[in-house]
Amino acid sequence: MKRVFGSYNQQLVHHAKNLLEAAGIRVLVRNQYLSSAMGELPPAECQAELWVLEEDDFEKANQVLSAQPPSGPDWSCACGEKLGAQFSQCWRCGASRTA
Ligand SMILES: [Zn+2]
Repeated sequence: MKRVFGSYNQQLVHHAKNLLEAAGIRVLVRNQYLSSAMGELPPAECQAELWVLEEDDFEKANQVLSAQPPSGPDWSCACGEKLGAQFSQCWRCGASRTA
C-alpha cells in the first residue's frame, strides 16, 4: 500500500477517493473517523489519508489527482451551501453544479 493523498478536509479526501475509484484504482481511506477526536490526539493522527492498495497504481493515482486541481472560485448551491471548485455536486442537497 502507498499513501497518495492526505488532508484534514474529509470531503477532499472522499472526493479524491471517488476520482480514483472511477479510474479503476483500488483505494483505502485511513483515519477517516478520527477527526472527531481532534484535541485529544496530535493533529497528525487526525488527518484522513488516501492509500492505493496496489503500489503499481501509485503513478496513475497521482496523475488522476493532479489532473483535478482543487482550485478556482467557490460556488454556491441553490440551497445556500458553499462548495469548493473541485466539487461538481452539492453534498447537502445533491444538486449538480450549474454554470
Ligand atoms: Zn445544495
